[in-house]
Amino acid sequence: ERIDIIPLFHHILDRFDMNKAALIDFERKIPNEEIFVWVDKDKITQVIDNIMSNAIKYSPEGGKITFQVAKEVHRLRISISDQGGLGIAVEKLDKIFERFYRVDKARSRELGGTGLGLAISREIVVAHHGQIWASSIEGQGTTVYFTLPLVNRKRGGSRK
Ligand code: ATP
Ligand code: MG
Repeated sequence: ERIDIIPLFHHILDRFDMNKAALIDFERKIPNEEIFVWVDKDKITQVIDNIMSNAIKYSPEGGKITFQVAKEVHRLRISISDQGGLGIAVEKLDKIFERFYRVDKARSRELGGTGLGLAISREIVVAHHGQIWASSIEGQGTTVYFTLPLVNRKRGGSRK
């Protein structure tokens, strides 16, 4: 479906705002314009839910979670950053997108989950012809990025 994705982002984040714990602060850096992409809305919602839930779950001290949208030449880059979390060692940054991989087994077991969230997110993003990756500073926090191809507004109308 070809949609302006900006209202979808706000809709998803409004739900997180309503349910958030007092010690977490959310920030949105989202352009105030229409941005058209081809997406399966439910699937992209699932990707954002997964990444946002991780940001909350793995930042036990709270801090700020920033949702940023940057328009690049041919793609939209979405990033979700947490602060004050445990972070992830550089050599493990690619592994978190593998099925059942969890950085700290004991800690992750306590926090619950299956280790599938990011593997599913990667499948969805790749199916949308996007990319997904992460950067992190141990002891400081993590940023997960994904991209979606932008639709050329003049030629985008005739595709299914
Ligand atoms: P599930 O998402 O299935 O409930 P999960 O959160 O453990 O379980 P993933 O979302 O795939 O699984 O994440 C894989 C692992 O990557 C996590 O167990 C955690 O160790 C690490 N991780 C993911 N996001 C973050 C983050 N924001 N900060 C620190 N570690 C993270
Ligand atoms: Mg998860």
